[in-house]
Amino acid sequence: MADANSGNSSPKYKRIVLKLSGEALGDRSSGDAISGEILQRIAVEIKKVHDLGVQVCLVVGGGNIFRGKLGAASDQKVDRTTGDFMGMMATMINGLALMDCLEKNGVPVRVQSALHIEEVAEPFILRRAIRHLEKGRVVIFVAGTGNPYFSTDTTAALRASEIGADVIMKATKVDGIYSEDPVKNPDAEKFDNITFIDALKNQYAVMDSTAFSLCLDNEMPIIVFSMNEPDSILRAVQGEPIGTLVS
Ligand code: UDP
Repeated sequence: MADANSGNSSPKYKRIVLKLSGEALGDRSSGDAISGEILQRIAVEIKKVHDLGVQVCLVVGGGNIFRGKLGAASDQKVDRTTGDFMGMMATMINGLALMDCLEKNGVPVRVQSALHIEEVAEPFILRRAIRHLEKGRVVIFVAGTGNPYFSTDTTAALRASEIGADVIMKATKVDGIYSEDPVKNPDAEKFDNITFIDALKNQYAVMDSTAFSLCLDNEMPIIVFSMNEPDSILRAVQGEPIGTLVS
């Protein structure tokens, strides 16, 4: 097991929060909400960073299974609060899948949940989470903030601030922040760096507004990048200009 404090190269970021959306675990072509192949790919990428001695926290979404807002708007008409709890439980399912796959790849993991589910996950306890990181364990935060009407992006912003992370790495389908939607306009400009103020002024979609404000208030940098590029997390923690850095 790699010791969390003895990397063989010197990463730029020593403690990171990696935010994975629920959809990042699914396979659209097969319709699987959680794909074993994709999980394995993600686990290998995380292991590379962990082996470098970087302290890694994961915050995982649940959008591949359920989102409270969509449930309320759909034919199912699930009450928003109930739907949000369903969404938070979806993040638990994803977190356990990630835990299992990481462990099978030799990465020690602890799952901490914002909702009580003692048989399978520890409760979220800040000091214990930090201790796990110091001991070289990856910590997966599930069940979001534990409150309806929030998102897992907000969870990432909150946990990153609480644990004193150096950066939030937000994995998305797009490889960074663009001046316009690059699918609609192939000439859209991709930014390597932008400030929080520029992102706000131009309404670039970095995170939802609650999550973004938390990062802004706590001066928590965010790297928006695509997991589809091999070694993207590894390269980003080593300070390579991957995706877009919002700071
Ligand atoms: N959620 C919530 N409170 C939180 C975090 C998440 O109620 O603190 C619910 C909400 O319904 C959300 C769902 O869990 O839609 C899944 O999270 P999210 O949409 O952030 O997942 P992602 O889009 O990243 O897959």
